[in-house]
Amino acid sequence: MGARVELVLPAVIRPDATTPTPFGRLTVPGRAIAEKRVSVDSGEIAGLRDAARAVAGRAHAPYSGFRVGAALIMADDPERRTIAGANVENASYGGTICAERSALAQAASLGFRKLELLVVSCVATLDAPVADRSPCGICRQMIHEFAGCDPETLVIVDGGGADALGDVFDLDRLLPYGFNLMSEQPDAVIPAGQSEGRDPAFRS
Ligand SMILES: [Zn+2]
Repeated sequence: MGARVELVLPAVIRPDATTPTPFGRLTVPGRAIAEKRVSVDSGEIAGLRDAARAVAGRAHAPYSGFRVGAALIMADDPERRTIAGANVENASYGGTICAERSALAQAASLGFRKLELLVVSCVATLDAPVADRSPCGICRQMIHEFAGCDPETLVIVDGGGADALGDVFDLDRLLPYGFNLMSEQPDAVIPAGQSEGRDPAFRS
């Protein structure tokens, strides 16, 4: 009890910028992310963090020595079980799978399709800058696959010292312009000259 807290994810407004060239316009797409407030159970996050750290100890990482664990809860799992995975490397390096995808593959194999909360722990780099302990690009895309367009899905990156529970990302912040095959999903590129009003977060 008392472990539930409200997080404020600040708005991000970044206009697009277009530069004419003799061969046509070059555009830097903008982003418009509305402020978001989400309620989380910090005790649940701590439990997932502990599970991620524990499973990292079982990583198969003989080549890099870089052990990573991920633990998650699927929104469509009525039992809200903790599903954990570690990175599994391969002598053929391309056959390696990261901890986040390892955990998500387990969750999908159990029949679940809706990610609610994922905690990833790079146990050897907990005090490193967040870029050194957060999901790689392939994992961000797979997290995007199972988060869909749900603004409530969160990813927590373990680290930052003894009194820090983690760094929080929603999908807008984790993977701008994540690839979609379904046109109704968000993250459409904002056309030049339209720096706001296209993000679905602004429609509600
Ligand atoms: Zn990865």
